[in-house]
Amino acid sequence: MKSSNREAALSKNEMVHLDITGMTTDGNGVGRCRNMAVFVPNTAIGDHACVRIIKTAKTYAIGKLLSLPRPSPDRMEADCPHFLQCGGCAFRHIRYPAELQIKEQRVRDALSRIGGLDAFPVQPIVGAQETDHYRNKAQLPISRGTDGELKLGFYAYHSHRVVPCEQCPLQPAVFDRAMQVFRDWERDFPQEVYDEATGRGCLRHLYLREARATGEVMVCVVANADALNGEDALAERLRDAIPGLQSVILNTNRERTNVILGKDCRTIWGESMITDVLCGLRFEISPLSFYQVNHDQTQRLYDLVKEYAGLTGAETVLDLYCGTGTIGLTLASAAKALIGVEVIPEAVENARKNAALNGITNAQFLCADAAKAAGELRQSGQLPDVVVLDPPRKGCAPGLVDTIREMAPQKVVYVSCDPATLARDLRLFADAGYGPVALTPVDLFPRTAHVECVTCLVKK
Ligand code: SAH
Repeated sequence: MKSSNREAALSKNEMVHLDITGMTTDGNGVGRCRNMAVFVPNTAIGDHACVRIIKTAKTYAIGKLLSLPRPSPDRMEADCPHFLQCGGCAFRHIRYPAELQIKEQRVRDALSRIGGLDAFPVQPIVGAQETDHYRNKAQLPISRGTDGELKLGFYAYHSHRVVPCEQCPLQPAVFDRAMQVFRDWERDFPQEVYDEATGRGCLRHLYLREARATGEVMVCVVANADALNGEDALAERLRDAIPGLQSVILNTNRERTNVILGKDCRTIWGESMITDVLCGLRFEISPLSFYQVNHDQTQRLYDLVKEYAGLTGAETVLDLYCGTGTIGLTLASAAKALIGVEVIPEAVENARKNAALNGITNAQFLCADAAKAAGELRQSGQLPDVVVLDPPRKGCAPGLVDTIREMAPQKVVYVSCDPATLARDLRLFADAGYGPVALTPVDLFPRTAHVECVTCLVKK
């Protein structure tokens, strides 16, 4: 028997001291005690912590921080009263340079543990200048408190309990104002709140968007209804409070699902979309289209994509998972031709309009599943020189890497919001003969646990 096995296991309610030496992907500190990993929320690497064990399992335990006999030098005072109740931020208690190091390390760990890619050329992470107020989108669940007041806020971590919030440090002040107007309006025009358990009731989410460069604001109410009692009054009050208001929309979602948006949108007041400027181009954004949430860091991300693509004007670029066409359109002027592929029809419509809006005539957009469209392009002999990929968190669809290998582009530029699926896919690309030139993590989501990466691969 190994000596460690003779040590008494940790038991519930026990108090222990431990050093925090690592961080989980969702921002909890990890230490070891009596050969067990102990996960402790609200700790930082370098903390010497006094912890109460609140849960034990076979190989790990969960602890609650009681006191910090020796705090980490990376610590700072968390400046939001909702930190750790709301599931948004993971790192408000840690200085930003330390947060960036954690994120960079997470990318290296994923590459090595999941992809077996130890020598991958990871560049220093690109940190943000603004670590607060950067979000241009908020989706706020609505519930009703026992006091009868409307609760607008964010879901608690891994739950559907709403943590009410009047101000969120990640969002612009104009969103706080829209939330205030909405709460006040509802007091005068009471609505039923949607109940996930029964599928009854009306108000589901308040969904806000801001075009950072133009200041245009969209307010979208997601409801289990085709109309709201007093919707014109809501629009009027929002107009009075928000100078940049451009669009008030009702999105109808009648499904019993935790997908936030339904398919149908009706404009209550103003335009059906807002327009932003990104990398010098104008982009129209409608409620159902994906658009990166951090304007300034997205520009830096797209600049890296451009640098990695290294276009000369002779290339055909295939932009898979293209959303409203943003990445491809920023490359189009340096390419011979651009083909974008996106599965959401509204986003494809936006992408086509965005091309026209910017006088780009060498771009076409296909509304299709990325893997399917790639297969069809390969069969018809339309072979790109550069493939840009920006899939959702689950990464490339099965078979897509094979199809890309068969298309044999010189370069693949892979943008990813999940280091784990990225590492899995980069392994597939390595096996398909695509070697790494560089990978740069970009902090698109300061204070949260998420990290974005852009990778440049070339055909060996
Ligand atoms: N490149 C864009 C969007 C990236 S987000 C940008 O930077 O803004 C990922 C996009 O992939 C979303 O727009 C989503 O609607 C789309 N998508 C998800 N699954 C898809 C699939 N199977 N085929 C094509 N597009 C898909």
